[in-house]
Amino acid sequence: MRAIVVDEVRAQPQVRTVPTPDVPHNGVLVKVMATGLCRSDWHGWAGHDEIVFPHVPGHELAGVIAEVGPGVQRWTRGDRVTVPFVCGCGQCNWCSSGNAQICPNQQQPGFTHWGSFAEYVALHAADTNLVAIPESVEFATAASLGCRFATAFRAVSARAKVRAGEWLTVVGVGGVGLSAVMIANALGARVIAVDRNAEALRVAAQVGAEHVLRSGSTDIPAAVFDLTDGGAHVAVDAVGNEQACSDAILSLRRRGRHVQVGLLPPVEGHPRVPMARAIAWELDLLGSHGMATVDYPQMLDLIERGVLQPQRLIERTIGLEEAAELLPTFDRAAVAGMTMIEPTPSRSDGTN
Ligand SMILES: [Zn+2]
Ligand SMILES: [Zn+2]
Repeated sequence: MRAIVVDEVRAQPQVRTVPTPDVPHNGVLVKVMATGLCRSDWHGWAGHDEIVFPHVPGHELAGVIAEVGPGVQRWTRGDRVTVPFVCGCGQCNWCSSGNAQICPNQQQPGFTHWGSFAEYVALHAADTNLVAIPESVEFATAASLGCRFATAFRAVSARAKVRAGEWLTVVGVGGVGLSAVMIANALGARVIAVDRNAEALRVAAQVGAEHVLRSGSTDIPAAVFDLTDGGAHVAVDAVGNEQACSDAILSLRRRGRHVQVGLLPPVEGHPRVPMARAIAWELDLLGSHGMATVDYPQMLDLIERGVLQPQRLIERTIGLEEAAELLPTFDRAAVAGMTMIEPTPSRSDGTN
């Protein structure tokens, strides 16, 4: 199969022909129809994850089952499917209680094994992890759910439990941040979007932000306090750096809820977080990590009804070659919205 291969940390990714993965026991082999390019792929490329090289990245995907491994009960060849980027083992107590997103033995395509920047990807524990794509939902839309959109959905609805009429600040409106803006708006919250990128803020306003604030020169907490008469009820750090996390937390009102979604790198051992404010104002600091398949039906229902339109966040669709060029610069890419990859050119034979 053709795939984007990274030979070592920070090596230039190359498109070449590699062996198609074996279909796992209890798993399936999926022909990839669409796969998102995400900042997490850049983190993997840059050496921030434990990855065995040579490696094929890619963790936000949708496609068609090409082969079914022994032990799989629920799925057959030809089914249209997607997966959350955190795939549970299907065996442990966390998985059986509907919390595969924190499974201690989790697999992540594109990190723990070869991912979806390829014509085929192997997926484990299919009966636990696969989600059927409704007929009315396109592959690219489904692929956009697996990481950023589903993560934002869980962060806003299940973790922060945002309610209609509440103020919510989203710091960083890349893919996950824009998703959070759209979802919070659909749930009736009033949204303030914060970013350095004016183009990203323009898109944020289109998908539901009532106010936008340009970070860099503005005192974000002060500006949010002005807009909200005393601070937001909920804040989301969708970036994952000290400034973004601090701006998000310090823009909360007393007893506000902060959700940390962006991966926050350590400073001298641990990340620095304004904990004094969290204590004095009784703030809730929440972590959020993906979303299990059992929580997909509620999200897919809102998508089928058009209440949520993740496809509006897809900015462009590219091929494997262009994606290989783009990956090393993706931390700096001033792209508003999501980048989608189609590993198989649609002109050629799109079936097996
Ligand atoms: Zn498990
Ligand atoms: Zn991702």
